[in-house]
Amino acid sequence: MPISQKLLEILVCPRCRGPVELNSGEDGLVCGACSLVYEIRDGIPIMLTDQARPLDKSGRLQV
Ligand SMILES: [Zn+2]
Repeated sequence: MPISQKLLEILVCPRCRGPVELNSGEDGLVCGACSLVYEIRDGIPIMLTDQARPLDKSGRLQV
């Protein structure tokens, strides 16, 4: 399920309060400043630092 652009605009990284962007796989939101990926589950981004995964070089979500 794609995440809406509107929702994307209001979401911020819970750690640094910076903007996040959709990754190439569209299964996570990337904070470049923290090098973290917030997973999108069933169209709902999980904006929790303890649920976030480290960002790899490609920006894809690590499974
Ligand atoms: Zn951040």
